[in-house]
Amino acid sequence: MSLRVLLVLVTSVAVCVGAVAQAPDQPTIWASKPDVAGFEKIVNDHLAAAQAAVDKITAVKGPRTVDNTVAIFDEAIRQINTSLYLSVLMQQVHPDAAFRDRASEMVRKGSAAQTALSLNHEVYQALAGLDVSKADAATRYYVKRQLLEFRLAGVDKDEANRTQLKKLNDELTNEQSTFDRNISDDQKKVEVTDPKELDGLPQDYIDRHKPGADGKIYVTTNYPDALPALKFSKSDEFRRRLFLAFQTRAYPKNKEVLERMLKTRYEIATLLGYSSWADYNAADKMIGSGENIGAFIQKVDSAARPIAERENAMLLAEKQKTDPSAKEVGDYEVGYLNELVRRSQFNFDSQAVRPYLPFNAVRKGILDTAATLFHVTFRQEENVSAWDPAVETWDVIDSGKTIGRFYLDMHPRPGKYSHAEMSPVLDGIRGKQLPEAILVCNFPNPTADDPGLMDYSDVVTFFHEFGHLMHWILGGQQQWAGISGISMESDFGEAPSQMLEEWMRSPQVLASFARHYKTGEAIPAELVARMNLASAFGRGTWTSQQNEYTAVSYNVYNGKPENVDLDAVVRAAVTKYTPFIPLPDTHFYASFGHLGGYSSAYYTYLWDKVIAEDFFSKFDHNNLLAGPAPMRYRHAVLEPGGSVSANDLVKNFLGREQNMDAFQKWMGEEFEASAVVQQQAGN
Ligand SMILES: [Zn+2]
Repeated sequence: MSLRVLLVLVTSVAVCVGAVAQAPDQPTIWASKPDVAGFEKIVNDHLAAAQAAVDKITAVKGPRTVDNTVAIFDEAIRQINTSLYLSVLMQQVHPDAAFRDRASEMVRKGSAAQTALSLNHEVYQALAGLDVSKADAATRYYVKRQLLEFRLAGVDKDEANRTQLKKLNDELTNEQSTFDRNISDDQKKVEVTDPKELDGLPQDYIDRHKPGADGKIYVTTNYPDALPALKFSKSDEFRRRLFLAFQTRAYPKNKEVLERMLKTRYEIATLLGYSSWADYNAADKMIGSGENIGAFIQKVDSAARPIAERENAMLLAEKQKTDPSAKEVGDYEVGYLNELVRRSQFNFDSQAVRPYLPFNAVRKGILDTAATLFHVTFRQEENVSAWDPAVETWDVIDSGKTIGRFYLDMHPRPGKYSHAEMSPVLDGIRGKQLPEAILVCNFPNPTADDPGLMDYSDVVTFFHEFGHLMHWILGGQQQWAGISGISMESDFGEAPSQMLEEWMRSPQVLASFARHYKTGEAIPAELVARMNLASAFGRGTWTSQQNEYTAVSYNVYNGKPENVDLDAVVRAAVTKYTPFIPLPDTHFYASFGHLGGYSSAYYTYLWDKVIAEDFFSKFDHNNLLAGPAPMRYRHAVLEPGGSVSANDLVKNFLGREQNMDAFQKWMGEEFEASAVVQQQAGN
């Protein structure tokens, strides 16, 4: 009896604690409603505080300690990060163009402060001279990684070399921005010579493409314009012309820019003692060396080849229905043939799921799913001021305690960043600062007479970005800002987000929120099954093409730049890794923006996909929200943030290093599943 009373009491206390968890006492990001001058002052104050911290480190007399060196260094990092997070966000979301321009200037200022700190010889010596042998493991790891980053920046080199490195890095920054600008400036347009060339495209697309003042119809190489046409236009001739325009953007301008960029990077790498940029760039990542990138490409190739060839045979058979003499598939027609096979072989039309995916239900469904999966609750804060009234503010509560906050800015506005991303707002520091982040997306906006129906791929993107968000919040309970959230090796960052995409494929998870916006009927399991099979088709060839890009990214940076013939590298990669015939006279490297930013690390996407599928294989596929895997994953992979190497995170969760088995299964899922269906039919 008394035991029972006690249990009831305990339960009600737990509920009570959950109910009274306070909103965090740190102000929300837009609490002071700053105008442009106020915003600038906030950013400048953070940068001044960072500089004060740097001065404090270098002024220390007497023995160096964690308190007088690491703690102050971390404060400088926290202040610079806070200023940059805010400036980057305002550059992307503020409704006023003049405000966004000013924010861009503040991004440059914050980046300059960041670069100056990474090249500060005195701060490097302060950290290098510190004895951390008695410090805790996370602090030791933090200092070790920072020293590596300092050395990779060349801080330990002599004055003459540091001056040379500074010059090379400035050149590289200019080359990178020229490379990017040439891509965004070179929007080509292709004339539609016969309106029939748009046959196969959705009516709203055709309606948006009326003849202009010159009486002609054009399709541009902008993504929302070009991609549907490459997928759905029934005119082979038109798709071929459009693909040629698309794959020659920024050519020939960027050929020369890229060649200079390869040279600058090679000089930086060799000055720092590495034999290639690929090797240098891998030194602070999970993969460790250029050689390992090469080995990874070969492993992916072996895993993908049999599946890609099988899928290619189906694409060819589809093509032969209209062109019986066809012997091969061109790279320009892959998107189009994929869609045809999905319809003819898998009886699936991607439009069929949209009515089940109105925005508000999807948002609630994803939040509920994440709450159950990660054992947290979310609570909306009301009446919070923001740059736009549509922005929502949410608290993350764990066992009755508020552990973080996030914002949702989910719908398009003129001038807003046009893709989807998770953007950090504050680093989480245990006992000092709660982690905060924001999702900036462009999903349909529901109104009184429009439910805001989402595409299947939009919902996958939502899950993906929410994966980044949970990583940021749950990994944001660290002692130091510099090891908080997603600060680990950069080639791990896409694994948790790619893994969460899989929850979109669970009939059980989908049925919990995907209901027809008119009838309220839950999405039929049979439709989900067809959707999953159809979306699995094409993964083998997709992987082979990703591997081609990965090989291009590696091969142009692996060696001496004077030996690199860009066109030959690309031709060799298409032929070697994909089953497709390249369209002549294309020069896709000129518009492959990742050769600037990711440089030799484009492998990151496939590397993390392999890890994501391996992680996913440890969950109960009959009930993705149940069993011990979710909490084990939260503890082993997300919560440590950047306090240990990502290679250890992977091993701690899997009990071994990652391998290709689950990834290979994922690639060929459409064949495994249809084999099962055929078998059942045969019995
Ligand atoms: Zn991502």
